Amino acid sequence: MNDSQTDHALALDFGGTNLAAAIVRLADGELIAYRKTATPAAAGAEASLQRMVKIAEESLRESMLPMARLRGAGISFGGMVAPDGSRVVRSMHVKGWEDMPLPQRISDHFHLPAAMGNDGNVAALGEWRYGSGGQPDPFIYIQISTGIGGGVILNRKIFCGQGMGAEIGHLKVQFDPEHSESSEPCACGSRGCIEAVAAGWALEREAKKLAAQADEGTLFQRVMRETNECSAKTLVQAVQLGDTGAKAVLDHAFTSFALTLSDLMVLLDPQEIVLGGSVAVNAWDLLEPILTEKLPGFLPANWGQRTAIRSSRLKGTETLLGAAQLVA
Ligand SMILES: [Zn+2]
Repeated sequence: MNDSQTDHALALDFGGTNLAAAIVRLADGELIAYRKTATPAAAGAEASLQRMVKIAEESLRESMLPMARLRGAGISFGGMVAPDGSRVVRSMHVKGWEDMPLPQRISDHFHLPAAMGNDGNVAALGEWRYGSGGQPDPFIYIQISTGIGGGVILNRKIFCGQGMGAEIGHLKVQFDPEHSESSEPCACGSRGCIEAVAAGWALEREAKKLAAQADEGTLFQRVMRETNECSAKTLVQAVQLGDTGAKAVLDHAFTSFALTLSDLMVLLDPQEIVLGGSVAVNAWDLLEPILTEKLPGFLPANWGQRTAIRSSRLKGTETLLGAAQLVA
């Protein structure tokens, strides 16, 4: 299987918003012939699969690699995956994926061995192997983008319990959310999850509240007018200019996120935690100081600096790189 001739992998990323494909050189994570396209979500699973096959074929042609150089096809799926990786359970965004034996379909089409994992777990594997050299253990990767996802690497492998574990976005930060400002339900159907407080969609909700309240002439209003946007990004830009209302929103979200990190640190004593996704990367200059300030108070006394915390180095490619690692 680890024949040195087969030194590349076909990597496929089935997201709710985008589909991406590339050839990955396994030794160093070089991405070759990268392709990305919108997921035809409304058209369902079969249409998404056909569009993915099309961009993957384009990638293979552009790379000009003989098929004999490919070790396999690694698949990241944005949704629930059976614990053995053989089937999709379901997607929250696209209908028709229920119980689909996706690795078998890809394997039959490309005549390659195929393996699949959930996107958060796969991204953790990619960041661990290519961002951190495959060394830190335990290792945690958390992505703060539209939602909050992530994964845990334990004993050099993806750890997900019986299959549902490491759903980091749904750790609770509010005991009594009915009486707080974040009483809106989470995407998972529960309440009080960190995702419902600090994910891109939750920050957008708070930005819209701020837009409804903010006095004309605030920096937040100015950014909103100039960018014609009211989102997590608007909040971050307004804070970077000095807006105090937007700062209070982000301080609360990132302090809550520090609480989640402290829970994970106490549970797993990780050697390294990496934070990725558009919110964490774009707001790193705001997030990092809050973590540095708040974590010591949330952790047991004398816990010390046991865990390195950094932002992702892989610029959004961690999911495809992790998919390739599934067949490495
Ligand atoms: Zn949740």
